[in-house]
Amino acid sequence: MIISESKVVSLHYTLNNVDGEQIESSKGNDPLQYIQGVGQLIPGLEEALTGKAVGDALNVTVEPEKAYGYRSDDLIQKVSKEQFPPETVIEAGMQFQADNGMVFTVVEIAGEDVTLDANHDLAGQTLNFDVEVLDIREATAEELEHGHVHGPNGHED
Ligand code: ZN
Repeated sequence: MIISESKVVSLHYTLNNVDGEQIESSKGNDPLQYIQGVGQLIPGLEEALTGKAVGDALNVTVEPEKAYGYRSDDLIQKVSKEQFPPETVIEAGMQFQADNGMVFTVVEIAGEDVTLDANHDLAGQTLNFDVEVLDIREATAEELEHGHVHGPNGHED
């Protein structure tokens, strides 16, 4: 079996930046599991994994346009402190998720103004992945419907 649309893939990966500094790794943790073709992985990595088999190891460099895109000033906005719940302690560097799922980072606080940045942490970066394919199987109909991988006990697992 090879990696194609609607396969559940298990892999170990290490992500480095272009200077060879490690950003994150699945080694020492559970493998990453994803469904090919549903947008769970960045496009550049899905493309590189297409057609690979269990046991294949690959090193992939992904430019920003096929990773997390470029930084955009449009994703930086100023809001008032009043828009946060009163009990919230707002500090530069803190991240929170809005109701629409976007993750914001507080970049600056000046008086009542809070500057928020919704750019992805890895936006604008060229990424290098070391990947090892551990397992490939067909996704179930339920997994495809939900858009994520289920454990042995189904959705709750
Ligand atoms: Zn589910």
